[in-house]
Amino acid sequence: MTGFPSAFGAEPEGVWAAPGRVNLIGEHTDYNEGLVLPIALSQTVRAAARRRDDGRIRLRSAQQDSRVVDLTAGDLRPGGITGWAAYPAGVVWALVEAGHLVGGADLHFDSDVPAGAGLSSSAALECATAAVYNDLYDLGLTPEGLASIAHRAENAFVGVPCGVMDQTASACSAAGTALLLDTRSMARRHVPFDPTAHGLDLLVLDTRVRHDLTDGAYAELRAGCEHAAELLGLRALRDLTTDDITTDITTTGDPAVDGRRSVLSRLPAALQPLVRHVVTENERVIEAVAILEEGVLPRLGPILTAGHASLRDDLRISCPETDLAVATAVEAGALGARMTGGGFGGSVIALVPAHRTAAVTEAVTAAFRAARHRAPFAFTAATSAGAHRIR
Ligand code: ADP
Ligand code: MG
Repeated sequence: MTGFPSAFGAEPEGVWAAPGRVNLIGEHTDYNEGLVLPIALSQTVRAAARRRDDGRIRLRSAQQDSRVVDLTAGDLRPGGITGWAAYPAGVVWALVEAGHLVGGADLHFDSDVPAGAGLSSSAALECATAAVYNDLYDLGLTPEGLASIAHRAENAFVGVPCGVMDQTASACSAAGTALLLDTRSMARRHVPFDPTAHGLDLLVLDTRVRHDLTDGAYAELRAGCEHAAELLGLRALRDLTTDDITTDITTTGDPAVDGRRSVLSRLPAALQPLVRHVVTENERVIEAVAILEEGVLPRLGPILTAGHASLRDDLRISCPETDLAVATAVEAGALGARMTGGGFGGSVIALVPAHRTAAVTEAVTAAFRAARHRAPFAFTAATSAGAHRIR
């Protein structure tokens, strides 16, 4: 990290890294107290840092203009900072709010996590900052503690009402595994995930269509889900199963089953698809975990594709580029594919027999060219560990 000395005129005390993530399955479930199954990527945000005793926080990023953002730890207020610096500043604010005795630091960030691609560069930036502060100020926070601070920074300081998945994936993951997270109990389980061992690749296709999750669409979906739960008298949509949203027209003679009506019929038409997505998506996470634990990875493919159909048709958060990438990947030999991340663009993941990876990438690139979309950026995902010190 040569950027640090040139920005701050001294060597850093250390370098920390926090990974981006892709979510295998479990989209828009985390704010419904549901299940998610992300993996941490080998792409990381790195932070070179040095403690300061004057309370100043100086921030610079190799991915932004060369300006150093100069702040004071004690003066941080939600809404008071705009732009990228709000993410790291929000972490310091959240630490202060949580009663930790922290002060200033110089931080220089560098990253290979594409920003705005649905790969959670924001959580990586927050978790890298939290990891820096944890060590520089000897806070003794656990990985969950880091995730919780980072999540609070994004929610309450930056103002994105995101669930807790991204920060948990970036802070708590382990290499060679996916992270099953129950966002109600916060119970976590590392589930083996090693596509290479099965002759497969998890291909990531960044469509380069950039979403802006602060623009209200995400907040609207979240509010819709919370309203539906309230109308049904539930704490969260997590409490529904596929049985609850099935209308049973069979006559078994059992009055508990015959004539059972889907709870969807009690909701306004606009909320019904949201509920259907959340319920079926939680079910897909459970199926996916069973598949990973049984070691029959190719069977994950159809689950990915079904998940995409649900995002496209029920949540309506896909876009022409992500739909084209999914359809083309599957046609060209992927076992399954879906959009990952909050929606409205971002990245598509495809589970591909390794000998087909080049062909699938070429097919999607050609289809994008023909449709006059920007060329997608493709890479094969490798799993990695959560936020940690690297030097
Ligand atoms: P995602 O988390 O999917 O990448 P977000 O919109 O949540 O998308 O976060 C992207 C924002 O995070 C960027 O607009 C920028 O403000 C900030 N960011 C991400 N990476 C960096 C970086 N390397 N340096 C500075 N800011 C970054
Ligand atoms: Mg983000």
